[in-house]
Amino acid sequence: MLDLAIIGGGPAGLTAGLYATRGGLENVVMYERGMPGGAITQSSEVENYPGVTEVVTGMELMQDWPKQCMRFGLKHEMAEVKRVSRPEGLCFNIELSDGSVVKAKSVIVATGGTPRKAGFKGEEEFFGRGVSTCATCDGFFYKDKEVAVVGGGDTALEEALYLANICSKVYVIHRREQFRAAPATVRRAKENGKIEFILNAVVDEVYGDAMGVQGLKIEKRDTGETIDLKVPGVFVFVGYDVNNAVLKQEDGSFLCNMTEWGEVVVDLAMRSSEEGLFAAGDVRMMAPKQVVCAAGDGANAALGAIAYVEKLHREKLC
Ligand code: FAD
Ligand code: NAP
Repeated sequence: MLDLAIIGGGPAGLTAGLYATRGGLENVVMYERGMPGGAITQSSEVENYPGVTEVVTGMELMQDWPKQCMRFGLKHEMAEVKRVSRPEGLCFNIELSDGSVVKAKSVIVATGGTPRKAGFKGEEEFFGRGVSTCATCDGFFYKDKEVAVVGGGDTALEEALYLANICSKVYVIHRREQFRAAPATVRRAKENGKIEFILNAVVDEVYGDAMGVQGLKIEKRDTGETIDLKVPGVFVFVGYDVNNAVLKQEDGSFLCNMTEWGEVVVDLAMRSSEEGLFAAGDVRMMAPKQVVCAAGDGANAALGAIAYVEKLHREKLC
Protein backbone atom coordinates (compact mmCIF):
# COMPACT_ATOMS: atom_id res chain seq x y z
CA MET A 1 0.00 0.00 0.00
CA LEU A 2 1.39 3.40 -0.98
CA ASP A 3 1.40 6.27 1.49
CA LEU A 4 0.88 8.60 -1.43
CA ALA A 5 0.27 8.29 -5.17
CA ILE A 6 1.01 11.36 -7.27
CA ILE A 7 -0.56 11.45 -10.72
CA GLY A 8 1.45 13.60 -13.15
CA GLY A 9 5.12 14.50 -13.25
CA GLY A 10 5.07 18.20 -14.19
CA PRO A 11 6.18 21.00 -11.84
CA ALA A 12 3.24 20.31 -9.47
CA GLY A 13 3.75 16.53 -9.28
CA LEU A 14 7.52 16.73 -8.95
CA THR A 15 7.39 19.34 -6.20
CA ALA A 16 4.73 17.30 -4.40
CA GLY A 17 7.10 14.31 -4.62
CA LEU A 18 9.99 16.32 -3.22
CA TYR A 19 8.06 17.69 -0.24
CA ALA A 20 6.26 14.40 0.52
CA THR A 21 9.40 12.24 0.59
CA ARG A 22 11.58 14.83 2.32
CA GLY A 23 8.75 15.34 4.80
CA GLY A 24 8.82 11.68 5.86
CA LEU A 25 6.26 9.83 3.75
CA GLU A 26 7.45 6.43 2.59
CA ASN A 27 6.33 4.57 -0.44
CA VAL A 28 5.54 7.56 -2.59
CA VAL A 29 5.10 6.84 -6.30
CA MET A 30 4.72 9.48 -9.01
CA TYR A 31 2.88 8.10 -12.05
CA GLU A 32 3.89 9.99 -15.19
CA ARG A 33 3.00 8.61 -18.60
CA GLY A 34 6.04 10.21 -20.28
CA MET A 35 9.28 11.74 -19.15
CA PRO A 36 8.89 13.92 -16.05
CA GLY A 37 8.92 17.70 -16.65
CA GLY A 38 5.40 18.50 -17.82
CA ALA A 39 4.05 21.08 -20.25
CA ILE A 40 6.83 23.60 -19.70
CA THR A 41 9.29 21.31 -21.52
CA GLN A 42 7.58 22.47 -24.75
CA SER A 43 8.76 26.03 -24.13
CA SER A 44 11.86 27.43 -25.81
CA GLU A 45 12.16 30.47 -23.54
CA VAL A 46 11.37 30.76 -19.84
CA GLU A 47 12.40 33.90 -18.01
CA ASN A 48 9.92 34.16 -15.15
CA TYR A 49 10.94 31.36 -12.79
CA PRO A 50 12.25 33.13 -9.68
CA GLY A 51 15.98 32.81 -9.10
CA VAL A 52 16.75 31.64 -12.64
CA THR A 53 18.29 34.80 -14.03
CA GLU A 54 19.15 33.56 -17.54
CA VAL A 55 16.53 32.85 -20.20
CA VAL A 56 16.37 29.04 -20.32
CA THR A 57 14.40 26.46 -22.28
CA GLY A 58 11.69 24.54 -20.44
CA MET A 59 13.83 21.40 -20.72
CA GLU A 60 16.77 23.17 -19.06
CA LEU A 61 14.54 24.49 -16.30
CA MET A 62 13.16 21.05 -15.49
CA GLN A 63 16.16 18.78 -16.06
CA ASP A 64 17.32 18.58 -12.44
CA TRP A 65 13.90 18.44 -10.77
CA PRO A 66 13.48 14.61 -11.01
CA LYS A 67 17.04 14.03 -9.73
CA GLN A 68 16.38 16.16 -6.65
CA CYS A 69 13.17 14.24 -5.83
CA MET A 70 14.67 10.79 -6.37
CA ARG A 71 17.42 11.68 -3.85
CA PHE A 72 14.77 11.66 -1.12
CA GLY A 73 13.17 8.41 -2.26
CA LEU A 74 10.45 9.38 -4.73
CA LYS A 75 9.76 6.56 -7.16
CA HIS A 76 8.74 7.31 -10.73
CA GLU A 77 6.62 4.83 -12.65
CA MET A 78 6.27 5.55 -16.33
CA ALA A 79 2.64 4.57 -16.53
CA GLU A 80 -0.67 6.12 -17.45
CA VAL A 81 -3.31 6.24 -14.75
CA LYS A 82 -6.75 5.41 -16.06
CA ARG A 83 -8.78 6.17 -12.95
CA VAL A 84 -8.56 7.04 -9.26
CA SER A 85 -11.45 5.53 -7.29
CA ARG A 86 -12.40 4.81 -3.69
CA PRO A 87 -14.58 1.71 -3.85
CA GLU A 88 -14.68 0.95 -0.13
CA GLY A 89 -13.23 2.30 3.11
CA LEU A 90 -10.45 4.86 3.15
CA CYS A 91 -8.13 3.39 0.51
CA PHE A 92 -7.87 4.80 -2.98
CA ASN A 93 -7.49 2.51 -5.98
CA ILE A 94 -5.04 3.70 -8.62
CA GLU A 95 -6.16 1.92 -11.78
CA LEU A 96 -3.42 1.86 -14.40
CA SER A 97 -4.08 1.62 -18.12
CA ASP A 98 -2.44 -1.87 -18.24
CA GLY A 99 -5.29 -3.08 -16.01
CA SER A 100 -3.33 -3.34 -12.76
CA VAL A 101 -4.55 -1.67 -9.54
CA VAL A 102 -2.40 -0.17 -6.78
CA LYS A 103 -3.76 0.87 -3.38
CA ALA A 104 -2.85 4.23 -1.84
CA LYS A 105 -3.68 6.02 1.40
CA SER A 106 -3.65 9.47 -0.20
CA VAL A 107 -3.55 10.88 -3.72
CA ILE A 108 -2.37 14.11 -5.34
CA VAL A 109 -3.75 14.71 -8.82
CA ALA A 110 -1.38 16.93 -10.83
CA THR A 111 -2.33 16.09 -14.41
CA GLY A 112 -2.36 19.62 -15.84
CA GLY A 113 -4.39 20.70 -18.85
CA THR A 114 -4.17 21.12 -22.60
CA PRO A 115 -4.97 24.29 -24.54
CA ARG A 116 -6.97 23.53 -27.70
CA LYS A 117 -5.57 24.23 -31.14
CA ALA A 118 -7.46 26.37 -33.69
CA GLY A 119 -6.27 24.26 -36.60
CA PHE A 120 -4.84 26.87 -39.00
CA LYS A 121 -1.80 26.32 -41.20
CA GLY A 122 1.48 27.06 -39.40
CA GLU A 123 -0.01 26.77 -35.89
CA GLU A 124 2.02 23.68 -35.00
CA GLU A 125 5.11 24.70 -36.97
CA PHE A 126 5.41 28.06 -35.22
CA PHE A 127 4.22 26.93 -31.77
CA GLY A 128 6.76 28.34 -29.30
CA ARG A 129 8.28 30.53 -32.06
CA GLY A 130 5.58 33.20 -32.22
CA VAL A 131 2.45 31.13 -31.69
CA SER A 132 1.59 30.90 -28.00
CA THR A 133 -1.24 29.83 -25.73
CA CYS A 134 -0.01 31.76 -22.68
CA ALA A 135 0.01 35.56 -22.40
CA THR A 136 1.51 35.58 -18.90
CA CYS A 137 4.38 33.41 -20.18
CA ASP A 138 5.13 35.05 -23.50
CA GLY A 139 3.49 38.50 -23.55
CA PHE A 140 6.62 40.27 -22.37
CA PHE A 141 8.57 38.99 -25.40
CA TYR A 142 6.34 41.34 -27.47
CA LYS A 143 6.72 44.46 -25.34
CA ASP A 144 5.79 47.53 -27.41
CA LYS A 145 5.06 45.33 -30.43
CA GLU A 146 1.80 44.41 -32.16
CA VAL A 147 0.25 40.99 -31.53
CA ALA A 148 -2.87 39.06 -32.51
CA VAL A 149 -5.26 37.11 -30.28
CA VAL A 150 -7.50 34.39 -31.73
CA GLY A 151 -10.81 33.58 -29.98
CA GLY A 152 -13.91 35.24 -28.59
CA GLY A 153 -14.34 33.65 -25.14
CA ASP A 154 -13.50 34.95 -21.67
CA THR A 155 -9.92 33.73 -21.90
CA ALA A 156 -9.26 35.44 -25.25
CA LEU A 157 -10.63 38.79 -24.12
CA GLU A 158 -9.10 38.71 -20.63
CA GLU A 159 -5.72 37.80 -22.12
CA ALA A 160 -6.12 40.50 -24.79
CA LEU A 161 -6.60 43.02 -21.97
CA TYR A 162 -3.49 41.66 -20.22
CA LEU A 163 -1.48 41.92 -23.47
CA ALA A 164 -2.73 45.49 -24.04
CA ASN A 165 -0.80 46.50 -20.90
CA ILE A 166 2.44 45.32 -22.50
CA CYS A 167 2.07 45.46 -26.28
CA SER A 168 1.56 48.48 -28.54
CA LYS A 169 -1.54 46.98 -30.18
CA VAL A 170 -3.65 43.83 -29.87
CA TYR A 171 -5.79 42.58 -32.76
CA VAL A 172 -8.57 40.24 -31.59
CA ILE A 173 -9.60 37.89 -34.39
CA HIS A 174 -12.91 36.14 -33.82
CA ARG A 175 -14.92 33.99 -36.22
CA ARG A 176 -18.30 35.53 -35.29
CA GLU A 177 -19.78 38.94 -34.37
CA GLN A 178 -21.07 37.68 -31.00
CA PHE A 179 -18.80 36.77 -28.13
CA ARG A 180 -18.91 33.95 -25.61
CA ALA A 181 -17.08 36.21 -23.15
CA ALA A 182 -19.06 37.96 -20.39
CA PRO A 183 -20.61 41.25 -21.61
CA ALA A 184 -18.62 43.27 -19.04
CA THR A 185 -15.35 41.80 -20.36
CA VAL A 186 -16.37 42.50 -23.97
CA ARG A 187 -17.18 46.10 -22.96
CA ARG A 188 -13.80 46.57 -21.25
CA ALA A 189 -11.99 45.19 -24.31
CA LYS A 190 -13.98 47.42 -26.67
CA GLU A 191 -13.19 50.46 -24.53
CA ASN A 192 -9.46 49.69 -24.56
CA GLY A 193 -7.78 51.94 -27.13
CA LYS A 194 -5.06 49.40 -27.86
CA ILE A 195 -7.44 46.58 -28.83
CA GLU A 196 -8.82 46.35 -32.37
CA PHE A 197 -11.41 43.71 -33.29
CA ILE A 198 -11.39 41.82 -36.57
CA LEU A 199 -14.72 39.98 -36.53
CA ASN A 200 -16.30 37.38 -38.81
CA ALA A 201 -12.75 36.41 -39.56
CA VAL A 202 -10.79 33.17 -39.60
CA VAL A 203 -7.04 32.69 -39.62
CA ASP A 204 -5.98 30.89 -42.79
CA GLU A 205 -2.27 30.76 -42.12
CA VAL A 206 0.51 31.94 -39.86
CA TYR A 207 3.73 32.45 -41.76
CA GLY A 208 7.33 33.24 -40.93
CA ASP A 209 10.89 32.03 -41.25
CA ALA A 210 13.55 30.35 -39.14
CA MET A 211 13.45 33.28 -36.69
CA GLY A 212 9.72 32.83 -36.05
CA VAL A 213 6.35 34.31 -36.98
CA GLN A 214 6.22 37.28 -39.32
CA GLY A 215 2.47 37.57 -39.81
CA LEU A 216 -0.84 35.92 -40.44
CA LYS A 217 -3.36 35.77 -43.25
CA ILE A 218 -6.99 36.21 -42.27
CA GLU A 219 -10.11 35.73 -44.30
CA LYS A 220 -13.18 37.87 -43.57
CA ARG A 221 -16.14 35.50 -43.77
CA ASP A 222 -18.68 38.21 -44.60
CA THR A 223 -16.81 39.96 -47.43
CA GLY A 224 -14.32 37.29 -48.57
CA GLU A 225 -11.57 39.89 -48.16
CA THR A 226 -8.08 38.67 -47.17
CA ILE A 227 -6.12 40.59 -44.55
CA ASP A 228 -2.38 40.24 -44.14
CA LEU A 229 -1.48 41.21 -40.59
CA LYS A 230 2.25 41.66 -40.00
CA VAL A 231 2.67 40.74 -36.32
CA PRO A 232 5.42 38.67 -34.66
CA GLY A 233 3.16 37.12 -32.00
CA VAL A 234 -0.11 35.18 -32.27
CA PHE A 235 -1.92 34.11 -29.09
CA VAL A 236 -4.48 31.33 -29.51
CA PHE A 237 -7.27 31.05 -26.90
CA VAL A 238 -9.91 28.79 -28.39
CA GLY A 239 -10.69 26.65 -25.34
CA TYR A 240 -8.86 24.57 -22.77
CA ASP A 241 -9.18 20.90 -21.77
CA VAL A 242 -8.47 20.19 -18.11
CA ASN A 243 -6.85 16.74 -17.81
CA ASN A 244 -9.45 15.47 -15.36
CA ALA A 245 -10.17 12.04 -16.91
CA VAL A 246 -8.52 10.16 -14.03
CA LEU A 247 -11.20 11.45 -11.65
CA LYS A 248 -14.11 10.27 -13.80
CA GLN A 249 -15.85 7.23 -12.32
CA GLU A 250 -17.46 4.36 -14.21
CA ASP A 251 -20.91 5.94 -13.83
CA GLY A 252 -19.69 9.23 -15.35
CA SER A 253 -19.60 11.16 -12.07
CA PHE A 254 -16.40 12.67 -10.68
CA LEU A 255 -14.74 11.41 -7.51
CA CYS A 256 -14.75 14.93 -6.05
CA ASN A 257 -16.40 18.29 -6.64
CA MET A 258 -15.46 20.00 -9.90
CA THR A 259 -16.14 23.48 -11.29
CA GLU A 260 -18.45 23.87 -14.27
CA TRP A 261 -15.30 24.01 -16.42
CA GLY A 262 -14.00 20.65 -15.18
CA GLU A 263 -11.34 21.89 -12.77
CA VAL A 264 -10.94 20.31 -9.33
CA VAL A 265 -12.47 22.41 -6.55
CA VAL A 266 -9.84 22.87 -3.83
CA ASP A 267 -9.38 24.93 -0.69
CA LEU A 268 -6.27 26.97 0.06
CA ALA A 269 -4.48 23.78 1.22
CA MET A 270 -5.22 22.06 -2.15
CA ARG A 271 -7.68 19.69 -0.44
CA SER A 272 -10.48 18.43 -2.67
CA SER A 273 -13.96 17.62 -1.38
CA GLU A 274 -12.81 13.98 -0.92
CA GLU A 275 -10.68 13.60 2.23
CA GLY A 276 -7.17 12.42 1.39
CA LEU A 277 -7.45 13.53 -2.25
CA PHE A 278 -5.57 16.68 -3.25
CA ALA A 279 -5.15 18.54 -6.55
CA ALA A 280 -2.22 20.73 -7.57
CA GLY A 281 -1.22 22.85 -10.56
CA ASP A 282 -3.16 23.54 -13.74
CA VAL A 283 -5.82 20.89 -12.96
CA ARG A 284 -7.18 22.83 -9.98
CA MET A 285 -9.66 25.69 -9.95
CA MET A 286 -8.40 29.22 -10.56
CA ALA A 287 -4.90 28.01 -11.46
CA PRO A 288 -2.71 30.88 -12.70
CA LYS A 289 -1.11 28.31 -15.07
CA GLN A 290 2.47 29.14 -14.20
CA VAL A 291 5.35 26.87 -13.18
CA VAL A 292 6.00 28.73 -9.95
CA CYS A 293 2.34 28.43 -8.93
CA ALA A 294 2.14 24.73 -9.87
CA ALA A 295 5.28 24.07 -7.80
CA GLY A 296 3.80 25.97 -4.84
CA ASP A 297 0.58 23.97 -5.13
CA GLY A 298 2.58 20.72 -5.17
CA ALA A 299 4.39 21.63 -1.95
CA ASN A 300 1.14 22.70 -0.32
CA ALA A 301 -0.67 19.49 -1.34
CA ALA A 302 2.21 17.33 -0.10
CA LEU A 303 2.15 19.00 3.33
CA GLY A 304 -1.59 18.23 3.45
CA ALA A 305 -1.01 14.61 2.43
CA ILE A 306 1.65 14.17 5.15
CA ALA A 307 -0.77 15.48 7.80
CA TYR A 308 -3.58 13.28 6.47
CA VAL A 309 -1.50 10.07 6.44
CA GLU A 310 -0.16 10.86 9.94
CA LYS A 311 -3.76 11.20 11.14
CA LEU A 312 -4.66 7.81 9.62
CA HIS A 313 -1.71 6.21 11.43
CA ARG A 314 -2.39 8.02 14.73
CA GLU A 315 -6.02 6.96 14.76
CA LYS A 316 -5.00 3.47 13.58
CA LEU A 317 -7.34 3.75 10.62
CA CYS A 318 -4.84 2.18 8.24
P1 FAD B 1 1.79 19.85 -16.41
O1 FAD B 1 3.08 20.54 -16.53
O2 FAD B 1 0.83 19.92 -17.54
O3 FAD B 1 2.11 18.34 -16.05
C1 FAD B 1 1.11 17.37 -15.99
C2 FAD B 1 1.74 16.02 -16.26
O4 FAD B 1 0.79 15.01 -15.99
C3 FAD B 1 2.18 15.83 -17.71
O5 FAD B 1 3.57 15.54 -17.75
C4 FAD B 1 1.33 14.68 -18.21
O6 FAD B 1 2.05 13.80 -19.09
C5 FAD B 1 0.96 13.96 -16.92
N1 FAD B 1 -0.30 13.24 -16.99
C6 FAD B 1 -1.52 13.73 -17.36
N2 FAD B 1 -2.46 12.78 -17.28
C7 FAD B 1 -1.82 11.65 -16.84
C8 FAD B 1 -2.26 10.33 -16.56
N3 FAD B 1 -3.52 9.98 -16.72
N4 FAD B 1 -1.35 9.42 -16.13
C9 FAD B 1 -0.05 9.76 -15.97
N5 FAD B 1 0.43 11.00 -16.23
C10 FAD B 1 -0.44 11.94 -16.66
N6 FAD B 1 4.71 28.79 -17.23
C11 FAD B 1 5.56 29.69 -16.70
O7 FAD B 1 5.57 29.87 -15.47
N7 FAD B 1 6.42 30.41 -17.48
C12 FAD B 1 6.50 30.23 -18.83
O8 FAD B 1 7.29 30.90 -19.52
C13 FAD B 1 5.64 29.26 -19.42
N8 FAD B 1 5.68 29.03 -20.74
C14 FAD B 1 4.94 28.02 -21.28
C15 FAD B 1 5.11 27.71 -22.62
C16 FAD B 1 4.43 26.66 -23.17
C17 FAD B 1 4.65 26.31 -24.62
C18 FAD B 1 3.49 25.92 -22.37
C19 FAD B 1 2.72 24.76 -22.97
C20 FAD B 1 3.29 26.25 -21.04
C21 FAD B 1 4.02 27.30 -20.47
N9 FAD B 1 3.88 27.64 -19.13
C22 FAD B 1 4.73 28.55 -18.57
C23 FAD B 1 2.85 27.02 -18.28
C24 FAD B 1 3.41 25.87 -17.45
O9 FAD B 1 4.05 24.95 -18.32
C25 FAD B 1 2.28 25.18 -16.68
O10 FAD B 1 1.56 26.11 -15.91
C26 FAD B 1 2.85 24.11 -15.75
O11 FAD B 1 3.61 23.17 -16.47
C27 FAD B 1 1.74 23.38 -15.00
O12 FAD B 1 2.29 22.35 -14.25
P2 FAD B 1 1.45 21.07 -13.80
O13 FAD B 1 2.41 20.21 -13.08
O14 FAD B 1 0.21 21.50 -13.14
O15 FAD B 1 0.97 20.37 -15.15
P1 NAP C 1 -14.59 29.16 -24.76
O1 NAP C 1 -15.53 29.91 -23.89
O2 NAP C 1 -14.98 27.82 -25.24
O3 NAP C 1 -14.30 30.10 -26.01
C1 NAP C 1 -13.52 29.64 -27.06
C2 NAP C 1 -13.56 30.69 -28.16
O4 NAP C 1 -12.72 30.26 -29.21
C3 NAP C 1 -14.97 30.89 -28.75
O5 NAP C 1 -15.18 32.24 -29.00
C4 NAP C 1 -14.91 30.08 -30.04
O6 NAP C 1 -15.69 30.63 -31.08
C5 NAP C 1 -13.45 30.21 -30.43
N1 NAP C 1 -12.99 29.05 -31.17
C6 NAP C 1 -13.12 27.74 -30.83
N2 NAP C 1 -12.52 26.97 -31.75
C7 NAP C 1 -12.01 27.81 -32.69
C8 NAP C 1 -11.29 27.60 -33.89
N3 NAP C 1 -10.94 26.38 -34.29
N4 NAP C 1 -10.91 28.69 -34.60
C9 NAP C 1 -11.24 29.93 -34.19
N5 NAP C 1 -11.94 30.19 -33.07
C10 NAP C 1 -12.31 29.13 -32.33
O7 NAP C 1 -13.13 28.96 -24.08
P2 NAP C 1 -12.36 29.85 -22.99
O8 NAP C 1 -12.39 31.28 -23.33
O9 NAP C 1 -11.04 29.18 -22.81
O10 NAP C 1 -13.21 29.62 -21.68
C11 NAP C 1 -13.47 28.29 -21.20
C12 NAP C 1 -14.44 28.39 -20.02
O11 NAP C 1 -13.79 29.05 -18.95
C13 NAP C 1 -15.67 29.22 -20.38
O12 NAP C 1 -16.80 28.66 -19.79
C14 NAP C 1 -15.36 30.56 -19.79
O13 NAP C 1 -16.51 31.31 -19.42
C15 NAP C 1 -14.55 30.18 -18.58
N6 NAP C 1 -13.66 31.28 -18.18
C16 NAP C 1 -14.14 32.15 -17.28
C17 NAP C 1 -13.37 33.22 -16.90
C18 NAP C 1 -13.93 34.17 -15.91
O14 NAP C 1 -15.06 33.96 -15.49
N7 NAP C 1 -13.21 35.22 -15.52
C19 NAP C 1 -12.10 33.40 -17.45
C20 NAP C 1 -11.63 32.50 -18.40
C21 NAP C 1 -12.43 31.44 -18.76
P3 NAP C 1 -17.30 30.53 -31.05
O15 NAP C 1 -17.74 31.52 -30.02
O16 NAP C 1 -17.70 30.88 -32.45
O17 NAP C 1 -17.60 29.10 -30.70
